[in-house]
Amino acid sequence: FTSEIPAAPTTVRVNSPNVHYTNTHIYADYVYNNATIQTNPDGTVDVNPTETRYHFKTDLKIPRVGLMMVGWGGNNGSTLTASIIANRRGISWRTKDGIKTPNYFGSVVQASTLKLGVDAKGNDMYIPFSQILPMVHPNELVLGGWDISSLNLAQAMERAKVLDYDLQRQVASELELLKPLPSIYYPDFIAANQSDRADNLIPGTNKKEHLEHIRNDIREFKSINRLDKVIVVWTANTERYAEIIPGVNDTADNLLAAVEKSHSEIAPSTIFALACILEKTPFINGSPQNTFVPGCIELAERERVYIGGDDFKSGQTKVKSVLVDFLVNAGIKPIGITSYNHLGNNDGKNLSAPKQFRSKEISKSNVVDDMVAANHILYKPGEHPDHVVVIKYVPSVGDSKRALDEYFSEIFMGGKNTISIYNTCEDSLLASPLILDLVIITELMTRIEYRIEGMANFAPFDSVLSILSFMLKAPLVPSGTPVVNALSKQRMAMENLFRACIGLSPQNDMLLEHKAP
Ligand code: NAD
Repeated sequence: FTSEIPAAPTTVRVNSPNVHYTNTHIYADYVYNNATIQTNPDGTVDVNPTETRYHFKTDLKIPRVGLMMVGWGGNNGSTLTASIIANRRGISWRTKDGIKTPNYFGSVVQASTLKLGVDAKGNDMYIPFSQILPMVHPNELVLGGWDISSLNLAQAMERAKVLDYDLQRQVASELELLKPLPSIYYPDFIAANQSDRADNLIPGTNKKEHLEHIRNDIREFKSINRLDKVIVVWTANTERYAEIIPGVNDTADNLLAAVEKSHSEIAPSTIFALACILEKTPFINGSPQNTFVPGCIELAERERVYIGGDDFKSGQTKVKSVLVDFLVNAGIKPIGITSYNHLGNNDGKNLSAPKQFRSKEISKSNVVDDMVAANHILYKPGEHPDHVVVIKYVPSVGDSKRALDEYFSEIFMGGKNTISIYNTCEDSLLASPLILDLVIITELMTRIEYRIEGMANFAPFDSVLSILSFMLKAPLVPSGTPVVNALSKQRMAMENLFRACIGLSPQNDMLLEHKAP
């Protein structure tokens, strides 16, 4: 059997005067092309192409990395842990459809490819995404974390009801040994219906002591497991929004002082974020609440620690960030987007409380804004499609979340078009690989530095990692910079940044070699 598709190389080496390899690093010189625009009073537009010279430096050594999950015993945490063990040990399992083998489908890094160029015959040449630069393999991650529920990971996996029984059976003995660390529980922030599982708590109500406790947990985990780096992901329950109060959480110093006073408006997730920042540990928020209050972002910038958020983009919103992009770019005008969800897992139970639902509603609501704002032919300034999101808790569907969407659009000559989508999301199986992508790309970003004219030394990127937007529903971006929700643009941003690090120009689909050879 011979395949027409050339085999992917195991390592990529770019032969160019702009790229320089040492034993430890790749150095790349890169010209970033953009254009500044000036609209004149007569309506004409002046375009001035710009060029900025960037130098990128990437550390080639893949470190030993620990992933600590907050909410480790939840559906995502237990599913990811069991799946990594199944992948590591190559466990296969029987289902009514036959024998299944483990994989990392749903992870951009592990299960997607990117085009590197063409071979001598002009055929497109794709490599696994994970080979563009050296990246941590999920099987190598050392796992740990916290949960307010004391169940060990085998019990948590059983409670989640996500993975097939025959797989659960085979990984249970290893999972039994994994037990979440006690965590912080401020009942006011998550739904009251979660109180019955809160039996694994750090005692007391002193928030400064809680902060120090979490910092110590991170340090201990790092030293016991001889790790080079730890990355923490919040995959715990959705919290209510914290009120932004001047003097409390508006600046880094105010926030740290408010922690000393155990101010009631500081959420558990913000304590975790602060602990990570002070331990120089990247922190990613997979839930929708405003963990990153202004003071928290300021502290991350001050300490030069990477943060990312908010809310994993797994099912309905991922489709929305593709579909609305398609419609608006096709010159079709969505005027009504209506999204219903029902789900029966613990996330759904928590979201059945109004304040927690509100956090989710907010994170789901802005996802079409940039696409609408980009087309002033279809939408007048300030005009927006109707956009409604409903979430209901229906225990019988379990983790198999149903998302029903209607896209109602105006088309040619006053006509209307309706697209209805019924999406069975299999929530935790879509979200778990996103955790891997978030961790692996964040870790890679800690090994890349840049320099432009006027900078004496290489420096890290802005602390707010907007490059993670592909995996996130409401992407956090550096203050004053645009939010991009369109999925294809988000992917291109990742792909092209990593190409730049090896001196390659951005991906384009012109295929000029075939059109004008
Ligand atoms: P889950 O309810 O099964 O798990 C959350 C876990 O967090 C529970 O085990 C709970 O005991 C624990 N927890 C709550 N508060 C905690 C605290 N202060 N410290 C430590 N642990 C705490 O939920 P899930 O399905 O795993 O989802 C996790 C989060 O990810 C939710 O907020 C959800 O909204 C978000 N999310 C999930 C998806 C998805 O597709 N699964 C998509 C986007 C966002």
